[in-house]
Amino acid sequence: MHPLLLLWDIDGTMLFTKGAGEEALRQTLKNRFGVLDDLGGIEMAGRTDTSIAKDICDRHPTHNLQPNDLLDAYLEVLPECLGQKKGGVFPGVRELLQWSHEHSEVHNALLTGNIKRGAFIKLGHYGLANFFEFGAFGDDSPDRNCLGPVALKRARDILKRDFHIDYTWVIGDTPKDIACARALGCKVLAVATSRYPVAELEKHGADFCVANLSDYKAIIQRLES
Ligand SMILES: [Mg+2]
Repeated sequence: MHPLLLLWDIDGTMLFTKGAGEEALRQTLKNRFGVLDDLGGIEMAGRTDTSIAKDICDRHPTHNLQPNDLLDAYLEVLPECLGQKKGGVFPGVRELLQWSHEHSEVHNALLTGNIKRGAFIKLGHYGLANFFEFGAFGDDSPDRNCLGPVALKRARDILKRDFHIDYTWVIGDTPKDIACARALGCKVLAVATSRYPVAELEKHGADFCVANLSDYKAIIQRLES
């Protein structure tokens, strides 16, 4: 068996927060910076926190908001918002992570638009943080398509092994995850657990699409083949 590297997106792929992240941004803007913004018209799915924060700051030029300050303050509010919204983990995610954790040839890492601290707050809230040691995050680059090479380099450096690009899979829920995998040249497993149905993810060129990860043993077989 070839060593398998799984690069996981978080929101919409592993878990859903019922909008806790957006709510944390709204509350931060209002309570910390005195900015009223319902965040309408700002696309969130599949984007990096850093590019979203820049868009928000650009909408309020008179407030002289800085993206880093906004995100630092957001992290303070995020845990409480995750507790208020009743999100959850999608079917099969915990099982697939547990299975791969027990198999030394399969490695999990993150490839997410969340900034690193936000990623681990979300994963920690749902008891998934211990499955991940490293990854590439929204604070590595505002451009998601630049994150794949960062994740792959960290995997090689930290795990001290080489990963063939054909056995490196991005797991994500949006066309932006598919584009990010294409930019890296690796495979992509698309999960139709959020906004995009299987047919649309296939249309965007995913190598393998599933409704969810509940049949995780069959999915692993496909990733290894
Ligand atoms: Mg996602």
